[in-house]
Amino acid sequence: MKAENEELASKKSLNFIEQIVEKDLAEGKNGGRVQTRFPPEPNGYLHIGHAKAICLDFGIAEKYGGVCNLRFDDTNPTKENMEYVDAIMEDIKWLGFQWKNVYYASDYFQQLWDFAVELIKEGKAYVDEQTPEEIAAQKGTPTTPGTNSPYRDRPIEESLALFNKMNSGELEEGSMVLRAKIDMASPNMHFRDPLIYRIVKTPHHRTGDKWKAYPLYDFAHGQSDFFEGVTHSLCTLEFVSHRALYDLFIDWLKKGEDLDDNRSRQYEFNKLNLNYTLLSKRNLLALVNEGLVSGWDDPRMPTICGYRRRGYTPEAIRMFVDRIGYTLYDALNDMALMESAVREDLNKKATRVAAVVNPVKLVITNYPEGKTEELDAVNNPEDPEAGSHKITFSRELWIEREDFMEDAPKKYFRLTPGNEVRLKNAYIVTCTGCKKDTEGNVEEVYAEYIPQTKTGEAESNRKVKGTIHWVSTAHAIKAEVRMYDRLWKIENPRDELARLQKEENMTPVEAMKKMINENSLEIRPCCYVESYLANTKPLDHFQFQRIGYFCTDKDSTPEHLVFNRTVSLKDTWAKMQK
Ligand code: ATP
Ligand code: MG
Repeated sequence: MKAENEELASKKSLNFIEQIVEKDLAEGKNGGRVQTRFPPEPNGYLHIGHAKAICLDFGIAEKYGGVCNLRFDDTNPTKENMEYVDAIMEDIKWLGFQWKNVYYASDYFQQLWDFAVELIKEGKAYVDEQTPEEIAAQKGTPTTPGTNSPYRDRPIEESLALFNKMNSGELEEGSMVLRAKIDMASPNMHFRDPLIYRIVKTPHHRTGDKWKAYPLYDFAHGQSDFFEGVTHSLCTLEFVSHRALYDLFIDWLKKGEDLDDNRSRQYEFNKLNLNYTLLSKRNLLALVNEGLVSGWDDPRMPTICGYRRRGYTPEAIRMFVDRIGYTLYDALNDMALMESAVREDLNKKATRVAAVVNPVKLVITNYPEGKTEELDAVNNPEDPEAGSHKITFSRELWIEREDFMEDAPKKYFRLTPGNEVRLKNAYIVTCTGCKKDTEGNVEEVYAEYIPQTKTGEAESNRKVKGTIHWVSTAHAIKAEVRMYDRLWKIENPRDELARLQKEENMTPVEAMKKMINENSLEIRPCCYVESYLANTKPLDHFQFQRIGYFCTDKDSTPEHLVFNRTVSLKDTWAKMQK
C-alpha cells in the first residue's frame, strides 16, 4: 500500500509531457527511445520564453536517458545570421544544458527539395502563380470552404519546370509558390493547400546562393524531426492546429509505411508570458534597433544574456521555470515569482558587502583622528563555509542619507539626535546632530561611539532597535550603481501592443514607445563600496546589505566599478503600485 501511494505521489508530480513520455515508453513506442530537439530560428537572441522550452526539451531527454539535439531552424535567410547562432549556443550552455548534436534545417534542403519534386510527380503539389492576396482571398473561413486555385490542376510537367525555375534565380520573390494539394474545404485551415516553398533571393548564412526556393516552416519542421529520429517534438500551443499537417507530411514522406511505433509526434505546451515583460524576438529586435535599450544584453531585456548581465543565475531561472510548470492553457505569470527565485538562489550564494548608494558623511566625533581598525565581516550568514573578510573602521564614514533624520517620527530607529544605532559589524553610536548648508540640506551627520559595544566586547549585546551599514570614507571605492526597474508600464504589454496596433493604428515601434517605462534605469554615479570589491570581475554576485542583490557589470573596470541591481531585497514594487 505504501509503495503504491509513493508511486502515485511520484506520478502526480509528473508534468503532462512527462506522463505522455512515460506512457509511450511503457507501450514500447520508438523502441523505447526518447529523443527531443530544441529548434530555435537563429533570428535573434534567446529570451526567457525559450528557457522554458529548453528546460523541457533538455530536461525530458535527461530524465529518460535520451538525447536532445540542437537544431537551428534556418529556413528564412533574410532574418538569420551566425551571430545569433553563436549567441544561442552560449546561452544554452550557460543555462546548464548540453546538446548531443548540432543540426541545421538547411542541411536538409536537398532532401526536402527531392521530396517536394516527388510530391509534384505524384500530383500532390503544384506551382501557383497567383499573388499572395489572391491566394489569401481564396482561403475561405473556418466555416466556409475555400476556392480552388486556377493552377491547382495544371499538368505535372508544368509544375516541375516552374519549380526548377523558382530555384534558378530568374523569378522575382513572391511571383510563385509551391503548394501542397490537400483539401480546400478542410475544416483545418492548414490543410487548404498550404504553401510549402517560396522564392527568397537573399543569400543564406550557411548555403550561400545555392538555393533560391526555400521550404516553409510546416514543410521543414516535421520532416527535419523525422530525418533525425526525434520521438517527442515539443512545441508551444499555437502549433496545435499544425499537428495534423505535421503528421500528414511524414506519412507522405514514408509513402504509407506503417509508422505507428516509430515516428516523431508533436506535443504542445503553453508559452511563457510574464507580466511587465514583452517577449518575441521580433519585438526585442525592434527595441535594439530603435535604441530603446542598449543592446540584446541590456539588463532590462528579457533575453537570457540580459538576465545574465543583470545578475540572474542559471539556477534561479531553472527554479522559476520549474515552479511555473507546463500546462495546456495560456497564462500570464507574475514577475514576482521570477524575482523571488533569484532572491532565494542569491541568498545562498552572494557575499554580503557594504555599499552606500545615496551617501552622506557620518563623523564619529569621539573616535581618534587617524585611527583605523580592521573588523570582521561575515561573508554569508546562510553559509558558514563562506568565511569572512576584513573591513576598515575609521572616524569618517559614508552612510545612506535615508539613515539620518533630524526630526524623526517615533518609530524611526535609525540616526536621529539622541538615538542609539548599531553600525553593522562595529560599534553602537549615539547620534548627536548634523551640519546643514544654507538651504537646509544635511552636509554631515555627527555621532559618538560607545567603545565597549564593539562586536565581541563586554556590551556587544546591548540592545538597539536599528542597525545601519557604512563604509569608511578613506577606504571606500567610488562606484557607479545602475538601478533597474521594469521596462514596461503595462501589465500585459503583449496584448496591449496588439491592441494599440489594431485599434489605434500604431506601428509596433510607436506602440512600444507609448508603453515603455521611462524610469526603468536610474544611474547613481557616486556610490561608495567597501575596498573588498576592488578586484571584482563581471558577473560576481553580491548582496549590498539592506539594499538588494547586485552584480558586477561587464563595463566595470578596476578604475571605474559598475554594479547592476539584480533585484531588491524585498518585493517593494507591488506595494508602491497601490
Ligand atoms: P519568438 O516569437 O520569440 O521569435 P519563436 O517561437 O518564433 O519565438 P523559435 O526560435 O522559433 O522562436 O522557437 C524555438 C522554440 O522555443 C520553439 O519550440 C518555441 O515554441 C519555443 N518558444 C518560443 N517562445 C516561447 C515562449 N514564450 N514560451 C515557451 N516556449 C517558447
Ligand atoms: Mg519565430
